[in-house]
Amino acid sequence: MKERLARLRSMLDSLGLGYMLVTKIENVRYLSGFSGSNSVGLVTPTDSILFTDGRYKKQAPAQASGWEIRVYTRSIFNEIAGAVPMGERCGFEVTCSFDFQKKLSVEVDQGRLEPLDGIIEGLRGTKDEEEIVRMRAALGCAKAGFEAIRTMVTAGSSERRIAAELNYRMTLAGADGPAFDTIVSSGPNSALPHAPLTDRPLSEGDLVVVDFGAKRDGYLSDTTRTFLLPGADARAREAFEVVSGALEEVLGSLKPGVKASDVDALANEHIAMAGFAEHLSHSLGHGVGLEIHEKPTLSAISADVLEPGMVFTIEPGAYIEGLGGVRIEELVLMTERGPEVLSADISA
Ligand code: ZN
Ligand code: ZN
Repeated sequence: MKERLARLRSMLDSLGLGYMLVTKIENVRYLSGFSGSNSVGLVTPTDSILFTDGRYKKQAPAQASGWEIRVYTRSIFNEIAGAVPMGERCGFEVTCSFDFQKKLSVEVDQGRLEPLDGIIEGLRGTKDEEEIVRMRAALGCAKAGFEAIRTMVTAGSSERRIAAELNYRMTLAGADGPAFDTIVSSGPNSALPHAPLTDRPLSEGDLVVVDFGAKRDGYLSDTTRTFLLPGADARAREAFEVVSGALEEVLGSLKPGVKASDVDALANEHIAMAGFAEHLSHSLGHGVGLEIHEKPTLSAISADVLEPGMVFTIEPGAYIEGLGGVRIEELVLMTERGPEVLSADISA
């Protein structure tokens, strides 16, 4: 945690700023370890102060070691203003609410407030050892849950039953809960990449997409497996082969320093060459950590470069209206030596 604060201070230093308000709760957690739902951090050149309310007066000091805890009873804005010396400029996160910014500027003159976009999110794009340990633990819960429900993915079972059981099993395995709303989409429903859950019973020949993740200690996992139920027609099998091939090709091309947009293009080319171009509907992948979508972004318009320490998904897909969809999503850690597929041992 100290290392994370040091990296932030040197970033602020290069921007000529001594003070920064941290309002996004994932960012507060990243810097301090505090997991409460109400917090604002203030990083100063020498101190780090955490503002929270009375519900957390025991939890905050226990989790945020090294941080000065200030439990406010009336206006947090007043407290903040008191902690930023007159004449000092203070950065704030552009993701804060309009209401927060408006109230803050009543107490701290607008001219002293500097909007900052993606500073801590940028730091979080590269994981440290402790984060990688936590991500592996989250993934372990997801894997155990998935293994417990795999045999349920058969004709007659329903999307809702499978999703409910998977959420339950991941939690039993140690997860704090699912990382996001679990997707189980079957047959024609699976042609929508983010299909809502239905009561549809699975039937022979269905493609069944199961997109799931576990949350543990704040960290998330994200993996997708597609099942081809017995009796699937040739077009469905072909889509499955094409998507698997695109995944293999992309994984083979990953190395530190590659451009995320090039990786995205490679997957698209593979799928397009196989004649499925019109069936692509999303970008190739995204970083995962304290949030389900974070840095880096693997898309055509991304400026990100894949560096050691980054954890991201590779999730090619093909979706055919009326028939169904195929998506296979792996969670990958980039290392100095190349990619490590963290989710490799989760098999459908
Ligand atoms: Zn996913
Ligand atoms: Zn994903």
